[in-house]
Amino acid sequence: MIDWAYQKWILPAFESGIKRRKTFHHWRDLEASQWWPRQQIESLQVRRLRDLLTYCNAHSAWYRDRWADHGIDVDAVWSLDDLRSLPITTREMIRENADAIRSRYPGVAFVSKATGGSSGAPLRFLIERDANDRRVAAAFRGYGWAGASPGTKQSHLWGVNLNKLPWRQHLKECLYARLLYRRDMLNSFEMSESNVSDYVNRLNRYRPKVLVAYANPLFVLARAIDERGLRTHRPESIIVGSEKLYDHQRELIERAFGSPVFETYGSREFTLIAAECDRHRGLHVTSENLIVEIVDDHGNPSAPGEEGQILVTDLFNTAMPFVRYAIGDRAVAGTGDCDCGRGLPLLEKIVGRQMDVLKLPDGRHLPGAFFPHIIKDIPAIRQFQAVQTRRDVIRLQVVVGDNWNADDRDALRQRILHHIGDSSQLEIQQVDQIQLTAAGKMRVVIGYSGPQRSHPSRIAG
Ligand SMILES: [Zn+2]
Repeated sequence: MIDWAYQKWILPAFESGIKRRKTFHHWRDLEASQWWPRQQIESLQVRRLRDLLTYCNAHSAWYRDRWADHGIDVDAVWSLDDLRSLPITTREMIRENADAIRSRYPGVAFVSKATGGSSGAPLRFLIERDANDRRVAAAFRGYGWAGASPGTKQSHLWGVNLNKLPWRQHLKECLYARLLYRRDMLNSFEMSESNVSDYVNRLNRYRPKVLVAYANPLFVLARAIDERGLRTHRPESIIVGSEKLYDHQRELIERAFGSPVFETYGSREFTLIAAECDRHRGLHVTSENLIVEIVDDHGNPSAPGEEGQILVTDLFNTAMPFVRYAIGDRAVAGTGDCDCGRGLPLLEKIVGRQMDVLKLPDGRHLPGAFFPHIIKDIPAIRQFQAVQTRRDVIRLQVVVGDNWNADDRDALRQRILHHIGDSSQLEIQQVDQIQLTAAGKMRVVIGYSGPQRSHPSRIAG
């Protein structure tokens, strides 16, 4: 009854009435189109793709020139296969050419965002306002598959309030999360093995219907519950996102809480890209808003069962178009249809984001996502890599731009030390470039694996 009131009345009144957002309108459309046959969804994608490409050609100088250089006629793109004739866009290209990529169409309303991302170089970008409403709507739907429609009681074990907000904004965020969206926010960055029981107590008091969490802190929490036999509230489902979820983690989390786990995959650039339904056959793609391709090293579609890099085309973000954008993660495309009956295609598995967890000398676990989160707020840093060279030493290498100064360096040091405490030593080194792995990938965060050669939380390559 309370869920119903929030979903039918309180939240729509806020989103549509006060904020003038079209989120609920788009959400209703998405709830319907997910059941369309695959072919009908693809026709919709092609129509939207043609509009997007025509728009880019007219209003984004960078795309227009690049396609012209490649001898591409966008009017000849009539199918999803035709899209493959367009060149891939990298994060680096977007960063270097942001101004020329930006749409010059007058009156485009947008919001501005930044990501630290997993590739090590911060990226600033714009999202057209309606596109933003559409992606919030897609997140409503995807979370809804796990029983977490907006307004249901949720606890979030998430990296919150990392850089201390001014009190007014802090209060606003708290009220917004707690009263409007009924979310109890638990800060994953503060969690350690010694205070795990405080987190369990808080879950037991709040009794959320759904627990939403970063994979790695949730794993630490589940392991403690399992090992110590702690009595824990059992949510109806658990949604995991933002960090790669491994099979062994999923098993332990499901055992410790006695609740099914739903994996989600998203990014700052696109919000929710794919999410699991209750059949757990893979992750359904947000195909009405995005075209997601999985391609091999030659840019051809990966064979069934083979992993490849993920390319995303955002069909709505006209403020700053992302066309065939290499997001820096890898996945295996799914085959066939899901038993649930949804026409949305599947990703069988998200393979990797190259980020480790750092175990600190005082027993706390620092998620790899911590570093991009801090560094995205310091524009002078172009690239970085954090390496835990010993259990008590973190070496942060930074490639910096001309605008880098001593204040940046102090701010960076202070923010990191604030979180890691004084049990670890922090070395900040300015370097010309960051070393890539043998496979040519950037590993942003590398945890200390001890004298032994391998570490279970690492991703090879
Ligand atoms: Zn399904």
